[in-house]
Amino acid sequence: MRSVFCMSTHSFSARRALQAQPNAAHMLLAKLSVPKYLKIVAPAAKSFHLITQNVDGLSVAAAKSLDCQLSSNQARSNYARADSIIQMHGSLFDIRCTNCGHTVQDHSNPLCPSLGTADSLVDNYVDAGLKQVNLDVEDLPRCSLCGALARPGVVWFDEKPYELDKINGLIFKADLCLVIGTSSTVRAGG
Ligand SMILES: [Zn+2]
Repeated sequence: MRSVFCMSTHSFSARRALQAQPNAAHMLLAKLSVPKYLKIVAPAAKSFHLITQNVDGLSVAAAKSLDCQLSSNQARSNYARADSIIQMHGSLFDIRCTNCGHTVQDHSNPLCPSLGTADSLVDNYVDAGLKQVNLDVEDLPRCSLCGALARPGVVWFDEKPYELDKINGLIFKADLCLVIGTSSTVRAGG
């Protein structure tokens, strides 16, 4: 079966994200998820949550990197709390089933040979960041549980961000909310 598939720059973005490293800001925010550091800047704080719109996984990578830096003989409470990070727009490295929702992490790039071929066609295409590429549907990634087509585990336009109820609950309970690097506005699609 042949299909015209509208290839976004997802693979290109994933490749760039794979090459990126957490910066000082990622590391500082990761430190706030470690109780002993949080107590220094906010002694009365009971918890800290980072809600990120980024899909590059760098906030999670920063937390993991911080854990590696902390001595293994420290109490577990002195580690970065992975559950303190909510990636509300998903992650480029999550692959989600379009049918059953089964999600796996996959850092391979390309995800499959056909997407590697598509990558080479869009590598030098910079006009609009979007290009139509003919792909064989049979060659696209599939869910390992039900066999349906899989897709990037990121939120596309007109889709609802992940964990909105949890985020709303956290915001209403928070004593302090820092908004960093975003206007929190979205351009309406054309
Ligand atoms: Zn499935």
